[in-house]
Amino acid sequence: IKKIGILTSGGDAPGMNAAIRGVVRTALTEGLEVFGVYDGYLGLCEDKITKLERSSVSDIITRGGTFLGSARFPEFKDKAVRQKAIENLKKHQIDALVVIGGDGSYMGAMRLTEEGFPCIGLPGTIDNDIRGTDYTIGYFTALSTAVEAIDRLRDTCSSHHRISVIEIMGRDCGDLTLNAAVAGGCEFMIIPEMSYTKEDLIEEIKLGFAKGKKHAIVTVTEHMCDVNQLAADIEAAVHHETRATVLGHVQRGGSPVPYDRILGSRMGAYAVELLKLGHAGRCVGVQNGKLVHHDIIDAINNMKRPFDVDLYNTAKRLF
Ligand code: ADP
Repeated sequence: IKKIGILTSGGDAPGMNAAIRGVVRTALTEGLEVFGVYDGYLGLCEDKITKLERSSVSDIITRGGTFLGSARFPEFKDKAVRQKAIENLKKHQIDALVVIGGDGSYMGAMRLTEEGFPCIGLPGTIDNDIRGTDYTIGYFTALSTAVEAIDRLRDTCSSHHRISVIEIMGRDCGDLTLNAAVAGGCEFMIIPEMSYTKEDLIEEIKLGFAKGKKHAIVTVTEHMCDVNQLAADIEAAVHHETRATVLGHVQRGGSPVPYDRILGSRMGAYAVELLKLGHAGRCVGVQNGKLVHHDIIDAINNMKRPFDVDLYNTAKRLF
């Protein structure tokens, strides 16, 4: 192969820029040309494709988001739309495409591969919900942001003997919530992997106050419940002021922590290596510290994301 394309798709994540830089610089070092596709699959269909140089990725390793832009583009599920994308890639004589994104973006990459255009997927999302990798690019930065927010809420909760309900992102994956709860010293958590009842939660909070606690912090993964309603129910039952805070997209932004920069750089370089070896339809992961690659569809359909039940049990004993 001589020319490769790169795009970022779906929800953005800190460290995507480091991954783009990893791909671009490695490819150029290997004597390949690189083309940046702006705004994900949408830009691919609209031919927003530009040649990238070494300097195109200067000074981006420290920056959150993705300088290539991202997009949600459901029309990409349509084969005719993907044909247009492949035509555009061929017009620029691009031989292979690196896609940085989540599950949905991986599906797009797999479809393109099946239809004759080789792709490699890199896991870029703060949710840490991608199969075939222990960690995703962006997760540790979001974790750090969530913990900082918890620390701040804890200060004011403690002063006012208040209860705080904090909604954390993660889609259907509780990793961000569980790890933020442990690092933030939170008493209670509601995560998709473990069942809970509101009644038990309220009893535990009451017990905490009876033991002399000055405050309580409940962390909740998004979509698990209406946090404002939960806060109202807790306040009515426990008789302490209770506030809900939704951290939201604050968790998606910010300068990536070193781990995400390193992971993005490593995975970016590895994607180029795999393409040079003729691999396609693969997704890159890091497992037990080593870079690995799997069939994208097999990873999405058949691999399980391990849930750290030991950490959950430890967390419960720390309360
Ligand atoms: P993420 O990649 O973060 O999971 P999405 O699920 O929104 O985010 O997917 C990003 C984009 O990938 C979608 O907007 C769409 O363009 C493309 N995509 C998602 N699912 C498919 C699919 N089944 N086939 C082809 N393309 C898809």
